[in-house]
Amino acid sequence: MNKAEQKFLYELLETPSPTGFEMPGQRVWSNYLKPLADSIECDAYGSTWATLKGKTDKIVMLASHADEIGYIVKQITSEGFLRLDRVGGSDTATARGRRIRILGTQGDVTGIIGNTAIHIRKDLSNEKAPKIHELWVDVGASSAKEVEKLGIRVGVPAVYEGGPFELSNGNIVSRALDNKLGGYICAQVFKKLAEAKNKPEFTVVCLNAVQEEIGGHGAKMATHRLMPDVALCLDVTHATDTPGIDKATHGDVKLGKGPTLTHGTCNHALVVDRLVKVSEQNKIQLQHESSSRYSGTDTDSIFVTREGVPSALVSIPLRCMHSVVETANPKDIDHTINLMTEFVKSLKPEDTFFHQL
Ligand SMILES: [Zn+2]
Repeated sequence: MNKAEQKFLYELLETPSPTGFEMPGQRVWSNYLKPLADSIECDAYGSTWATLKGKTDKIVMLASHADEIGYIVKQITSEGFLRLDRVGGSDTATARGRRIRILGTQGDVTGIIGNTAIHIRKDLSNEKAPKIHELWVDVGASSAKEVEKLGIRVGVPAVYEGGPFELSNGNIVSRALDNKLGGYICAQVFKKLAEAKNKPEFTVVCLNAVQEEIGGHGAKMATHRLMPDVALCLDVTHATDTPGIDKATHGDVKLGKGPTLTHGTCNHALVVDRLVKVSEQNKIQLQHESSSRYSGTDTDSIFVTREGVPSALVSIPLRCMHSVVETANPKDIDHTINLMTEFVKSLKPEDTFFHQL
């Protein structure tokens, strides 16, 4: 990752885009790709895609999601505190005692999610993660009127403070690596393909879809419109190599051992085979995961569109998902960029990824 690429990733990470409010992040993403793309478009709800014309009209779609988890203001108390609701799978177990950025109508307001001191909490030995309605936010106001003056009303979104930094081994830590890392990687793949001497055989459509965290809605709308011939979906997956995670339950995925390829359900066997072949030919590290029903990613929405889109899920191992200390490995990022780029380069006009009887 060079300086300019890191600047782009960090800007994506620092720009809040909670589900339903993705446009600030989409503008950062589309500005980066604009000089490289034949066109950049966006639909009614904000899913955004860049197109790189290939030698044929057949389309390969590279899909990531633009939204991040967050909160939304549910109620404002007469004493000037805020009550929250979840946007996506926000984890209340890590919420108390954190700084939060309220995306108010007059600009951002920093507040804190309160934490009653350990000395005066009741029944400590039976303590559980707080319920969402038990969280309270202090934005420095002492009445509902003062809250209103700050540009905060019911329905404004919020995200944790928690910008990117690097650990001593170079691992990247930030909130919202899920899935801004996906948007970053797809953009790098697009850049490599756009700057290559030869045009790809397939037209490349790089999609940054909205509203994944609440059910793959953006990917559904955009795939229906774009109807690709083949799709790779890129998201994060749980690295299970930290203490206390049962591998029998959650599988064995390590940070720094390359992206994972998921087998089963939404993952078309022939697309998966091609990815394995590409990884072997180019010596790209790959880990494997199984899916017994749902993948829990946009792939579930993409593959069932109209008469079906041959699809596969590639995932970047991530520690501490849905927290402000999500952790990813730079080698995994490089391997994922290579895998997706080489997959696109491997496509020939006659490739259909249709099963034959
Ligand atoms: Zn995700």
